[in-house]
Amino acid sequence: MKKTLTLLSLALSLTGFSQYREFAELAPATLEEEPLTPSFDYFLEELSVFQWEWDNHECHVDSIDLSLSEDTIHLNWVDRRHGSFQLPMNGQLRSKFGWRGSRYHYGVDLKLSTGDTIYAAFDGKIRYAQYNRGGYGNLVVIRHYNGVETYYAHLSKFLVDTNQYVRSGQAIGLGGSTGRSTGPHLHFEVRYLGNAINPEEVINFETGELISKEMDITSDVFSYKKEMRARRYHRVRSGETLSALARRYHTSVSSICRLNGISRNSIIRIGQNLRVR
Ligand SMILES: [Zn+2]
Repeated sequence: MKKTLTLLSLALSLTGFSQYREFAELAPATLEEEPLTPSFDYFLEELSVFQWEWDNHECHVDSIDLSLSEDTIHLNWVDRRHGSFQLPMNGQLRSKFGWRGSRYHYGVDLKLSTGDTIYAAFDGKIRYAQYNRGGYGNLVVIRHYNGVETYYAHLSKFLVDTNQYVRSGQAIGLGGSTGRSTGPHLHFEVRYLGNAINPEEVINFETGELISKEMDITSDVFSYKKEMRARRYHRVRSGETLSALARRYHTSVSSICRLNGISRNSIIRIGQNLRVR
């Protein structure tokens, strides 16, 4: 009893009780073995998930670089309480996770028509829902119960507000082309503690199903970051030549040409971003 009381007062001091009530009201009461109100352990666990770096105005949390971590974190994508997954939308995969020229594309792009409905992939709470000047346009970020966040960008309309709880499959916005976008599409990201995960390691976009109900998060999932650290780019300034760049970065003209898909006779422009390593 004493333990329960301590937990209760800790819980109440950690957050307003209204937040807890909001959550309790959302909890499904259909399964017989499911308690109507969550256990306090469960409650505290979820509190910390929705408190850590909970910022409604910055789209990215301060990331802990998991490519340097030696730990293995076991994640469940769905559990008995937060039970389901739904594809954010049914659309052809137009662009994959990975390098796009000198920039890294941290998500996948799904083709859509402006106005198509976008759904929450998993249960969670809206951490961010506003116009983002960094290129995402109208962006919704949902934090899920396992701590993972999903990003839905370039929306034409918001159907949710920050700090609102959502269920998997709930409509959160309409697709569009706001922000840095060349046509209507959904840019979709999956991030854990700020680290982007290739969505195709989580979701099979052809079948619309999860690759697996669980996943081990190790540094291998973020090995692309090592490759990113190894890469070097150089913005060409007036008077610079390929051979000058090769000398400067202790490499060869042919290597720079190979990395950029150009020939040694190619004309390089001022302001061009060349990969040199
Ligand atoms: Zn994209």
